[in-house]
Amino acid sequence: MANNYYCPICRSNMNVGSSIVFSAKSPDNEKGLIFLDTELGNYAKKTHPEFKLQEGVEYKFYCPVCHAKLNKEENPNLVKVHMTDESGKKYEINISNIIGEHCTYKIQDKKAEAFGPDAERYSKYLDLPLEYRKYL
Ligand SMILES: [Zn+2]
Repeated sequence: MANNYYCPICRSNMNVGSSIVFSAKSPDNEKGLIFLDTELGNYAKKTHPEFKLQEGVEYKFYCPVCHAKLNKEENPNLVKVHMTDESGKKYEINISNIIGEHCTYKIQDKKAEAFGPDAERYSKYLDLPLEYRKYL
């Protein structure tokens, strides 16, 4: 059994086959489904051909089941889901909401493991205690 992803709000499973499914919306109100790879650090993504993702643009991400917004309140550039790995360990996973920005954080007990070529970008933010993050 591979990594299992689920919504932090309704706890519905979000992975189907080897993809995590998000509902997403661009600032121009273009909406659609995004399929991301369940392998951490793999940035392959799929959408319907009519839902064209704009590189470098910030999207809002939603749970495809309950439609809760998954961008974090304290940093909307990070999208949050929960994951359990093969051994049943639970993690918070954060990804960037910017199309083409490739970074992933696997967080447990306040420690963040980073993946992807753009991982430096939010690492400072994630290393800080929660109460200081609002000053960044
Ligand atoms: Zn949900």
